[in-house]
Formats: sequence, structure tokens, C-alpha cells
Amino acid sequence: MTQGFATRAIHLGYDPKDNEGALTPPLHLASTFAFETAEAGGEIFAGAREGYFYSRISNPTLDLLEQRIASLEGAEAGLALASGMGAITATLWTLLSPGDELIVDKTLYGCTFAFMNHGLAKFGIKVTHVDLSDPGNLTKAISSKTRIVYFETPANPNMRLVDIETVARVAHASGATVIVDNTYATPYITRPIDHGADIVLHSATKYLGGHGDLVAGLVVGTAEQISEIRLVGMKDMTGAVMAPFNALLVQRGLKTLALRMERHSATAIQVANWLESHPDVGVVSYPGLPSFGQHDVAQKQMSLPGGMIAFEMKGGIEAGRALMNGLTMIQRAVSLGDAETLIQHPASMTHSTYSPEERSAHGISDGLVRLSIGLEDPEDILDDLDQALSLRRVAKAV
Ligand SMILES: *Cc1c(COP(=O)(O)O)cnc(C)c1O
Repeated sequence: MTQGFATRAIHLGYDPKDNEGALTPPLHLASTFAFETAEAGGEIFAGAREGYFYSRISNPTLDLLEQRIASLEGAEAGLALASGMGAITATLWTLLSPGDELIVDKTLYGCTFAFMNHGLAKFGIKVTHVDLSDPGNLTKAISSKTRIVYFETPANPNMRLVDIETVARVAHASGATVIVDNTYATPYITRPIDHGADIVLHSATKYLGGHGDLVAGLVVGTAEQISEIRLVGMKDMTGAVMAPFNALLVQRGLKTLALRMERHSATAIQVANWLESHPDVGVVSYPGLPSFGQHDVAQKQMSLPGGMIAFEMKGGIEAGRALMNGLTMIQRAVSLGDAETLIQHPASMTHSTYSPEERSAHGISDGLVRLSIGLEDPEDILDDLDQALSLRRVAKAV
């Protein structure tokens, strides 16, 4: 019988018997691995024999993390990279050639948007942005030249969802590969491969690491896809390999992922409800609210609503700035998925790689504020928001 999610996140692929009884796996810092004989070295290099030879290609500490993320995502194989952007670029450089077409969602993390529009486009790859929150748009845009359909769900920063199953059906009918950035949901909440996606990638900097103390990326897919991304995109084209110490920290993060996602979600539901009922707050986008527009998609592919909330202040961005500056416990910072609650303004921070025209065309309004709910006591998060919003009311009244 397959073990459950939390058990696999803690035990999979490791037996203390193999390491003097050490409860936790060792950290292999070695950059290179000695061969027993010259012939054995040659065979390992040629891929005719299993073995490690150089840590830009593979390493036992990364290997264990790769096995665990593959299992948690329900994939055959995984690959650990230096950052989320390392995972995204290594994957796309491997799969695309000049003349190929790529369909991407309208809303993307800022640096992903920059890589697609200013990076890939420079090398003869046609990038088309389509609002995939309505899969009908994909049917109109897709052609036999479309190699990849790429999206985030929920999308950073506006929380729009993409129906993975429907989009995958349309993409596969045209022979395209479906790639999902699952950073926001994590495999505890959404397992895109179960819904038809082919490749899933992560900024492990966020929830998977979970403690704001590392930068890392992961990608999972079939053994064949991952081997290609490892030997082309990672080894030769980007060199974006994860450091062994970070792999150890991400392994540690995974052990509490299930617990943390439960807590992030439980607190975020309270905060989203509170924000929605506050007179100074405009639209609140959170999959756990009854008012959320894509409830049916959330129901279908999310086991919990997660820890990310996007909202508009009625007074626009000036009101958003006043709120951010009035906070005392909640930190003004980009990134997300940490123990600390973080607040940021996408238009001037994470999504400043978009021009103002691009932002408005892509559904990222200038007044949007993004909140990553941490693991603090929910009352303290609400108290801090409450006092910051009250300060604003006093200032307005004066
Ligand atoms: C942060 C983020 C990335 C980039 O990851 P890094 O680890 O910062 O390189 C990619 N996608 C999403 C959705 C992100 O939030």
C-alpha cells in the first residue's frame, strides 16, 4: 500500500540503516566523485552504468529530494535546480527550438513574464498570451505549431485559476506539452499531473522550503523528460544546479509541508473573510471565499484554498501604501510561503517587469496588494491589519 503524503515527505527513499543509523540523511557536499577504475568512469560518463560523477549533473543529497518531490507530485522523476527561474529556464530551453510557438497564460510571475517576452522571444520563439482562466480562449489560439502551454494556478499575483483538466485536454489534442507552475498551491493542495499536466515546476524558495532561508527550484515529469532537462537545460544551457545544503533545507521543509499548508489555509480563510467585511477594502480574491468567481475550478483541483490573498484597497494604491506602512508585525517583503506574514505591492515590486500597459492588459491592477499569510497566531495578524487600517481612518479624519 502506498504511504500517505506526509509520511512520504518524511521517509521516502531513506533508511537510517544505510548511514550508521543516522535518523536524518547525510549532506553530501562533494563536487566530484571518485571512480574505482578508469573503465568504470568511462561507463558512468557514457550512461552505461549508474553512478555519480560531478555535482552539476547529480548528487546523492539532491537525488533524495528529487525522489521525494516526484512522489509528492505523482511524477516519475524530479530535478533540483538553483532557483525557480533556474527550473523554468532550464525546462524551456530544453523543450523549445526557434520557430516553435508557446502559449502562456496572461498572468505570470514577473520574472517568468520577462523571460518569455524579453528572453525566449529574442531567440525566434513566438510567445502568445492567452487568458487561460477561460479554456475556450485556448481552443481559438492553439495550432499545430504550439509546442507548450504554460500557466500558474493560482496565478501570481491576482489568484486567477486555470482549469488544468480542460486546458490539458485541448493542449493534448494539438500535441502540445502542458507545464504548470505549482508554486502557489504546492502538491499538498493541487497535483497538476493527476489532472493531466505533463511537467510541474516550483519555486521551492516559497512553500516547499517554507522558512525564507533559501532560493531553490524543482521540476518533475516523466523520467525521459527529466533526464533531458538535466542533461541539456541544467548541465549545459543554464548550469543552474541546486546547492546540496539547500537540498537538505528543502528536505527539512517538506517534512512539515502538510502541516504548514493546513495552518496557512485555516488562517487565510479568517483573514480573507475579515478583509472582505472591512469598509475600506475593495475586492478580495481568495479561493476560500464564497464570493470567489472560480469556485467550481477551486472545488475540482484544490484540496484547500491556500495561504495567498490578493485584494484592492478602495482608496487605490495610496491607501495600499498607507496600509503597508502602518503595519508593525507583518513585514513588507516580496517572496511568499514563509512562516512570517508578508505584504507587497505587485505593480511596483514583483511585477514591475511588466510595463504599465502590459499590467493593465494582463489583469494586474495598480491598486492590488498581495498578502502571504504566515504561521503566526491568526489574532495577531488580524490585530496588525486592524490597527494599520484604523491609523488610516484617523489620518483621513484629521
Ligand atoms: C518566486 C516565483 C518564481 C521564481 O522563483 P525563484 O525561486 O525566485 O527563482 C516563479 N514562479 C512563481 C509563481 C513564483 O512565485
